[in-house]
Amino acid sequence: MDSLSKLFEETLRDIYYAEKKILKALPKMVKKATSQNLAQAFEMHIGETEAQVERLEEIFELIGKAPRGKTCPAIDGIIEEGEEIMKEAEDDTVRDAGMLAAAQAVEHYEITRYGTLKSWANKLGMTEAANLLDATLQEEKSTDVKLSELAESEINVEAEAADSEPAPKKKTGNKR
Ligand code: FE
Ligand code: FE
Ligand code: FE
Repeated sequence: MDSLSKLFEETLRDIYYAEKKILKALPKMVKKATSQNLAQAFEMHIGETEAQVERLEEIFELIGKAPRGKTCPAIDGIIEEGEEIMKEAEDDTVRDAGMLAAAQAVEHYEITRYGTLKSWANKLGMTEAANLLDATLQEEKSTDVKLSELAESEINVEAEAADSEPAPKKKTGNKR
């Protein structure tokens, strides 16, 4: 890897793989979500993610390369953790809190990738690509904000209530 444009291309392939992986994971998360609002948030992000994949394909076209993913161990790991939580949670509200947290980890990975790619696209004089990357970056950021709000207003509140139910339950993870 001896040029910024090559690095750009490789990172584009990384996020392309990641988006496709996310597209596979989201329907499972919709099914497993107990909260209607959480299910709706995941559902809405499926549509956005489909458009994001298309934007990446446009960028591949702009650089004259066939759209090809490159295994991203980071997203594989984040999704694996999320699946573990879905299996291990014995309380519906706790599972929701764990899934929401996993989804935010995904968004944060995407935000760092898109932020970097946008900045490199600008540096390389690729204005159109930079605009496409920024459109997705803004969607990922607003998804993250929406998830934080949902956590604070509903999901974490209900998960915490599981702690005061008669049967002893394990405590859930983070509060933002
Ligand atoms: Fe995405
Ligand atoms: Fe990666
Ligand atoms: Fe996303």
